[in-house]
Amino acid sequence: MLKMTSTVLKNLFSKSSTRMYPFEVREPFPLYRGELFNDIDTCIFCKKCEIKCPSQCITVSKNKDNGTGIWTCDPFACVYCGVCVEVCPTKSLHMKPNHRKPSATREMINMTGKVKVPKKKEAPKKTD
Ligand code: SF4
Ligand code: SF4
Repeated sequence: MLKMTSTVLKNLFSKSSTRMYPFEVREPFPLYRGELFNDIDTCIFCKKCEIKCPSQCITVSKNKDNGTGIWTCDPFACVYCGVCVEVCPTKSLHMKPNHRKPSATREMINMTGKVKVPKKKEAPKKTD
């Protein structure tokens, strides 16, 4: 009992080891993998991020009729592994070193962009 009381008193008057989040936010570490962002103008809707994501939280779809693509991510299922950023061929995906704000509702990230048609390679000129 005496030992416990001394521990309680020590903890009461010593400096706290934790912060009063979200009122006091700690600066993230330099290589912190935070919020995922897609620069949709450089996304080519190749689906590589969707295929490689271990949490299956990315969905990529194309609408051939109007030439648009939709990139969707469920940040509540994301485990912040960074695999999608590594495999993205156009580097349109990046992670910002900041914490996502707490939320009581499940919010999806939905982005729409134009699907770029890859330029056809010119056939080599015939030389006779
Ligand atoms: S891997 Fe990159 S370019 Fe491909 S669909 Fe995902 S975000 Fe877009
Ligand atoms: S960081 Fe990992 S879990 Fe999150 S979307 Fe990218 S691949 Fe999926």
